[in-house]
Amino acid sequence: MPRDPLPLLHSTFGFPGFRGVQESVVTRVLAGENTLAVMPTGAGKSLCYQLPSVVLEGTCVVVSPLIALMHDQLRAATAVGIRAATLTSVDTDQMKTIARFRRGELDLLYVAPERASNMAFRELLTQAPLALFAIDEAHCVSEWGHDFRPDYRLLRPLLDHFPHVPRLALTATADKVTRDDILDQLGIPREGMIVAGFDRPNIRYTITPKDNTTRQIADLIAETPGAGIVYCQSRAGTEKMAEALARSGRPTRAYHAGLDPQMRARNQADFVASEDMVICATVAFGMGIDKPDVRFVAHAGMPKSIESYYQETGRAGRDGDPAVAHLFWGAEDFAKARQRIGEVEPARQQGERVRLQALGALVETPGCRRKILLKHFGDDAPDNCGNCDNCLNPPGAVDATEVAKKVLSA
Ligand code: ADP
Ligand code: MG
Repeated sequence: MPRDPLPLLHSTFGFPGFRGVQESVVTRVLAGENTLAVMPTGAGKSLCYQLPSVVLEGTCVVVSPLIALMHDQLRAATAVGIRAATLTSVDTDQMKTIARFRRGELDLLYVAPERASNMAFRELLTQAPLALFAIDEAHCVSEWGHDFRPDYRLLRPLLDHFPHVPRLALTATADKVTRDDILDQLGIPREGMIVAGFDRPNIRYTITPKDNTTRQIADLIAETPGAGIVYCQSRAGTEKMAEALARSGRPTRAYHAGLDPQMRARNQADFVASEDMVICATVAFGMGIDKPDVRFVAHAGMPKSIESYYQETGRAGRDGDPAVAHLFWGAEDFAKARQRIGEVEPARQQGERVRLQALGALVETPGCRRKILLKHFGDDAPDNCGNCDNCLNPPGAVDATEVAKKVLSA
């Protein structure tokens, strides 16, 4: 008999109750049903497999795209007493982990997707009972997702090899096309999809044309206290921006995949610990970083898609307190994006064009930004959110005031 999950939610995780759709997801998982959970960043996706991993007999195998992400998760799980381990190329205690798994001593086993095609690993999984396959960041399985990882395609044969083991796919950002593709790719039935509301009411969205981006962002920082992220378009751009913003007197750091790993880790750790640091980063920064009090996210140029925009801005205000998302864009961003689309394989060009149009509609709308964002993910929204630039300052009204001023002063 599996244990009742509610007392464990209190005793192991210290949470007063489930949040949002967690309960529906956990219920399905405990019933052994294949599930896709689409829940915004910060909604608590990890709990949806961690809790079942403690309740159910056997090990939950968690597929995760980044080693750094796995190690963060491992630390958090171990801290609350879950028996967890990672099995990755950088782990020196692989034999120990394998032995623990065989003895049935692991609730969670974190692995990278490329393990899936490893026959020794498949064989290992037959040697002890399995409770669940959890596929984190499941949008990586779809070419339509914003972060396709071919290795995720290796998962299906492994999952099908263990047809009696339930699957739980989790993602924060997947539009309709991507969701349908995840279901197909991972063999999850349509009715197994649970989608949480996407609204982040405490985030104020503002979108402004660029003129001098560095100055615009310096102004934003001057009026926005707290820690923040500035997403830049290139590695060199992050360093230049960090240097320029340092003159504001706020501590700043650069972050990109080209920094040496030690410095990258140090900059990230400094940022997580700081209450007022500004980190200038490429999109390599953010996945799996647990910093609830990020007060602003600025984009010095267009993000790749609405999904990327939602995911990147979603790193602001995870503590529920007011936060700002400010995007600066220019016509040249669209020109560059169109050029890039011309270079991708023809079969994908049409889809990419549709995505770019969606971004265009978001930045150019005189209407509610939030409504466009939420509609993109299939959520209903009122016409006026009261917390984006256009709802707070309707563009028509501003123009009319300007005209009135000119007329009056003439
Ligand atoms: P996600 O993966 O969806 O971005 P996480 O699993 O990292 O989110 O959880 C985000 C935060 O929410 C974590 O700090 C976690 O401890 C907290 N959390 C998760 N579930 C609950 C809950 N039921 N009640 C309170 N806090 C929760
Ligand atoms: Mg997560």
